[in-house]
Parts: sequence; structure tokens; C-alpha cells
Amino acid sequence: MDEDPRMTRREFLARKVRCAGMLALGGGVGALVPKAAKGGTLWQIDPEKCIACEKCATSCVLAPSAVKCIHAYGMCGYCELCFGFFEAQPSSLDEGAENQRCPTGAIKRTFIEDPYYEYIIDEKLCIGCGRCVKGCITFGNGSMHMQISHDVCVHCNQCAIALVCPAQAFVRVSADQSYILKNQPSEQGGR
Ligand code: SF4
Ligand code: SF4
Ligand code: SF4
Repeated sequence: MDEDPRMTRREFLARKVRCAGMLALGGGVGALVPKAAKGGTLWQIDPEKCIACEKCATSCVLAPSAVKCIHAYGMCGYCELCFGFFEAQPSSLDEGAENQRCPTGAIKRTFIEDPYYEYIIDEKLCIGCGRCVKGCITFGNGSMHMQISHDVCVHCNQCAIALVCPAQAFVRVSADQSYILKNQPSEQGGR
């Protein structure tokens, strides 16, 4: 039987700390479950259905959107030419803004060892446009994908993005397993 790709909120937050090193955690497990959804369900995006249409950036009731790009490091090829990071025809493979696909500079590119580079999303800068996801699923491994950040989402009864999503990618998930990540066994170990 396939492994359940859903993660608990605690696992998700722990992963964000491990991968991005930018989130300070406080409180216990109970504090990590959104009050608006205790005992219930939350909206989330099924990354296998999402086509990165860019509506997540413009249709959320919040600005910037509660939808963010998440990077599944266990699937990433650590490519020098990452089409999540670079425009389709970059003038050169450097980090100049003119070469980057992300409109807000939310993706940090770091050299690891020849020829590998790591790509880390700064959630605070991400507006959920999905441009990086489009590039990654079109030309790469599809390791970048969209998720609703439950740190930010206000848990509308009817998600405004779900109403316009052309891929019917929005689903209700249990509040204690509120993220659907593209998991590979190696991702569970983290980096
Ligand atoms: S391209 Fe869009 S979705 Fe991807 S990191 Fe930048 S702002 Fe977020
Ligand atoms: S439930 Fe509301 S706040 Fe959350 S992603 Fe949907 S529209 Fe945005
Ligand atoms: S509206 Fe649907 S298809 Fe478009 S980016 Fe959001 S989840 Fe993906």
C-alpha cells in the first residue's frame, strides 16, 4: 500500500524549520492545530491536481495569499539550471533578477558542490503565484508545489480560491493532517 502523503501540522512545521531555518516554534502540539479547525477539517491543495494557474495569488481573501510554494527536497534534482528558479531562456545562469522566474525574489539559490545547487523558498516573500511551480512541473521533477499555509489562512468556510480553481485541486483535510506534501521516502529524513 502506498505511503500516506499527508503530514501532520507538527511534521510540516518541523520540516520548515529544518529546511528553511526561519521559523521559531513555540507551544506544544495543541498550539499547532488551528483553533478554527479543531475537531474538524481545513482546506488544502492536492499537489497532484494543481496546474499552477496563478489564481492562488489573486483569488485568496488575503493579500498576499495564504497559498505558498513548498519545496519537497527529497524529490529535487538540485539542478544547476532549475526552471523553478530561472526563466525559460535566462541570459546567464546567475542570480540576477532579470534571470529569475520568481517576481519577488523569494527563492534563494545556493551552490552545494559542482554541479549541484539548493533552492530554498522564503515563505515571507512568497505571494503564491505558482510561477516557479509551473516551471518545475513542466521542465523538472515537480518538487516545488503549492500548499495553503495554515499559519496564515483564516479558514474561510468556503475558500474563495477553491471556487475558481480550474483543476478542482482544493480538498478538505483533517486538521491534524493538514498538509499534502509530495513525499518521497528520502524526504522524510530531511536535509
Ligand atoms: S514564483 Fe511565486 S509561488 Fe514561487 S516562490 Fe516566487 S512568489 Fe512564491
Ligand atoms: S480559506 Fe480563505 S484565507 Fe485560506 S486560502 Fe482559501 S481564501 Fe485564502
Ligand atoms: S487555483 Fe488551483 S490550479 Fe490554480 S494554482 Fe491554485 S490550486 Fe493550483
